[in-house]
Amino acid sequence: MNPKKVLDAALKDKISLAYDDVLINPGYADFQLDEVDMTTKFSRNVPLKIPIAGAAMDTVTENEFAIALAIEGGIGIIHRNMPPDIQAHEVGKVKGYLNGLIENPDWVDAEEILAGIRRRFQQEDGTLRYHSFPVLSEDSKLIGMLNESSFKYKDPDTTAEVAVLDLMETGYNGTNLTTIEQAYNIMRNKKIGSLPLTDDQGKLAGMYIFSDVERIIKGGGMYNTDKKGHLIVGAAIGVHEDAYKRLEELVKEGVDVVVIDSSHGDSKNVLETLAEIRGQSKYDSIDIVAGNISMGDAVKRLIEAGADGIKVGQGPGSICTTRIMAGAGKGQMIAIYDCAKQADDTPLCADGGVVYSGDITKAIAGGANSVMLGGMFAGTEETPGKIVTLNGRKWKDYRGMGSEAAMKQHESSRQRYSQKDPKKSVPEGVEGLVPYKGSLKEVIVQYVGGIRAGMGYAGTRTIDELRERGDFDRLTTASRRESHPHDILITQEAPNYPGPGEN
Ligand code: 5GP
Repeated sequence: MNPKKVLDAALKDKISLAYDDVLINPGYADFQLDEVDMTTKFSRNVPLKIPIAGAAMDTVTENEFAIALAIEGGIGIIHRNMPPDIQAHEVGKVKGYLNGLIENPDWVDAEEILAGIRRRFQQEDGTLRYHSFPVLSEDSKLIGMLNESSFKYKDPDTTAEVAVLDLMETGYNGTNLTTIEQAYNIMRNKKIGSLPLTDDQGKLAGMYIFSDVERIIKGGGMYNTDKKGHLIVGAAIGVHEDAYKRLEELVKEGVDVVVIDSSHGDSKNVLETLAEIRGQSKYDSIDIVAGNISMGDAVKRLIEAGADGIKVGQGPGSICTTRIMAGAGKGQMIAIYDCAKQADDTPLCADGGVVYSGDITKAIAGGANSVMLGGMFAGTEETPGKIVTLNGRKWKDYRGMGSEAAMKQHESSRQRYSQKDPKKSVPEGVEGLVPYKGSLKEVIVQYVGGIRAGMGYAGTRTIDELRERGDFDRLTTASRRESHPHDILITQEAPNYPGPGEN
């Protein structure tokens, strides 16, 4: 990272800067806004198409929200105020939402007759459950595919083996196929509705369905998918036993990344849990993010213990009272920079405190690879909780995971704040309402549009360029006031400006 004078000075003088204290310097842009590339990483092996994650909070991220956000290119982290099996089920719903590669497709035996297959797969409305069936020989080799026309034009007594002969679509050696785009191009060129894959022995190794793949490739959203075309999702885990129990279940459902969820990530419990999990090769395929921290020297400890990503933020959250009740924490802007200076290539996620889309650009220019949002998402259609009408306006519940109610109800909330007794819990958050905002799809356009505009003003085409070259001025009270709309009675609320807040 290039030195950032204002932030370096604040670090040296121990001044706790927040997003509102700084402004990104405009710079020469040799590109158009539609050339901006927002791809980044949530953690070492987990990509993002937009730099945004959904908070692991029980009023924000369950499967519906995680699906909606991954479709838009981000990632949702399923909260842990639920038992491990239910949380894993939530993850499973996200992973199963899009069928990219179907790893174990239902298949039929070469000797089975069409009438029998129809009986097995016929649904209540008379149609078949699938449009295509791989046909396997006795030694499990793929000999071809049956499709709808096989059932339409062939005698019901015909065996699958015979029916397949003149409709045969050769299996593609799946060992060479690495991306869903490749599968799409093969099916398009061959004009086939499904693509069975085989391994080196000619055995069935998976299948793509053209209509599913086309939805992923051409769908309106950005679709943040794994290599097999399933939406990417994460889940929160606690420390020690809680973490191990959850991991066991989450891995079975294909979780991409787990986040050790603690309000004080620079602590023995978190470091021990991280090292313990990373030490087990059976978890090599998933990333582990640890947090939350806000000091650069904590980054080194977490990286040493094996973190694939680090979450930064102690006390900036909109529902958070930690800094007030405990008197500890760090301004989010300076926390990000301090941590980024120590992180090398370990991705940082700036968690909490984002109020305007411009704060996201500031977080990245300060060195973060992504941000995590709670309050900015809590009012969307897809979050848990019902809509309430108050004074003629629609609202949704939003509460801190350390709020009194959450702590009383859930052991995991207490664990996040290192507390044990539900009767004596000391809250570190509040609960309340946020304005209802409609669907995530409509909301995210504004957030992503803000980041894009910010990158244009900064003259940085990619996230890494913004992290490297983004530079700041320190704001005076007068320039902050000047930044907000002024000298006007706003009569029409803008979709990306909720008002000046406390400023
Ligand atoms: P927001 O986007 O609303 O500003 O902040 C969301 C973040 O605040 C969460 O991702 C989490 O890290 C943090 N958080 C959630 N609940 C609480 C709480 O009750 N107390 C504190 N201190 N932080 C919270």
